[in-house]
Amino acid sequence: METKPKKQQSPKETTQVKNLVLGSGPAGLSAALYTARAQLEPVVLAGGEYGGQVSLTHIVENYPGFPEGVGGPELTELFKKQAERFGARVVFDTATGVDLTKRPFRVTTYEKEYLADTLIIATGATPRHLEIPGENEFTGRGVSYCGTCDGFFFKDKEVVVVGGGDSALEEGAFLTRFATKVTVVHRRDEMRASLILQERAKENPKIRFIWDTVLNRIQGNGAVSEVELENLKSGKKEPFKTDGVFIFIGHSPNTQLFKGQLDMDAAGYLIANMHMETSVPGVFTAGEVADPHFRQVVTSAGMGAAAGIQATRFLESNE
Ligand code: NAP
Repeated sequence: METKPKKQQSPKETTQVKNLVLGSGPAGLSAALYTARAQLEPVVLAGGEYGGQVSLTHIVENYPGFPEGVGGPELTELFKKQAERFGARVVFDTATGVDLTKRPFRVTTYEKEYLADTLIIATGATPRHLEIPGENEFTGRGVSYCGTCDGFFFKDKEVVVVGGGDSALEEGAFLTRFATKVTVVHRRDEMRASLILQERAKENPKIRFIWDTVLNRIQGNGAVSEVELENLKSGKKEPFKTDGVFIFIGHSPNTQLFKGQLDMDAAGYLIANMHMETSVPGVFTAGEVADPHFRQVVTSAGMGAAAGIQATRFLESNE
């Protein structure tokens, strides 16, 4: 039998850069602003979600310099424009493999391959899932992790919001623009959200709370129509009618690519010192991928600036 010769995969084009930034959120774009101003001509790989989580945020009210607040996508564009003004190049591509065993670091993407003298990892974090029956099945059909993105689809409908942190209350409040009723279901009887958000939510006539309660399953016929709630104190389970379920129960860092190559904590966050240096010299990090604590646009941008400055100093002292 004749066998067809195997199709040879053409080798990917290789580009050598002084500074490669992974991620285009506030951390990545701030890092690129600093390395661009230091003439390192950084390339920023935008990743799967251009602008990161802030680009999905309707309005950012706590980024200094914008007393009236600023839209998330608008802030991303401003960050990008400022970095590009000094020579940064934002490329719409995603890293799929890294080799950090020697410098220059090799980073493979969907499109090509980069050899980078310094690397700044600002790959952010992804919303955590409840891992309950129906969650995956109804994602995009009533289950969502982003009020800003999907709120519009719930005009004149009723939704459940899961979580007791800032995200749950901030997004819950946003959802009241569309939904007639927002029910916040929290597993304890106390929230960890900031007091100002708690007060606003309690004053909002469209928001109500169900305490000490978890979701056991999400059900529907084509789209979400009901969840099963369980009160953790009484053990009582009951069906609860709803058109949507918005889940805000924290995040997981996007660090799968770096497993075994960089030091991480038990939850998978990159470990960095105050100079944003990781366990590999020449590899720096910034933003939520290395920060389970603050997770603010301003702190991520600050970490990005620090990583950019430090990458520049690293090259100065190693060349
Ligand atoms: P978070 O503060 O970690 O809150 C997660 C919430 O989800 C907690 O209330 C937690 O309950 C609950 N939860 C976790 N796992 C759960 C599960 N399996 N089932 C049910 N509930 C579960 O996350 P976040 O709200 O996304 O905020 C993260 C960080 O970003 C915080 O530092 C926050 O301040 C910041 N942030 C700030 C703003 C702002 O300043 N405007 C906006 C958004 C986020 P427990 O409370 O019982 O643990």
